[in-house]
Amino acid sequence: MMDDEGDRLAARRSVGDCPRCGATIDETAVIIEYEVSDRKTAYAECPACEDVVSPR
Ligand SMILES: [Zn+2]
Repeated sequence: MMDDEGDRLAARRSVGDCPRCGATIDETAVIIEYEVSDRKTAYAECPACEDVVSPR
């Protein structure tokens, strides 16, 4: 994906790293986010390997 929104770079926050390839995943890639007990869990599409992963 190309950089189509200039202000997205400044606004985005990291939600973690891809457990498969180690790429940083930012919140714009998050598909779903939920809490289990007091832990926040998310599923996101990794920008590098294009897999749906749980960032950590
Ligand atoms: Zn990945």
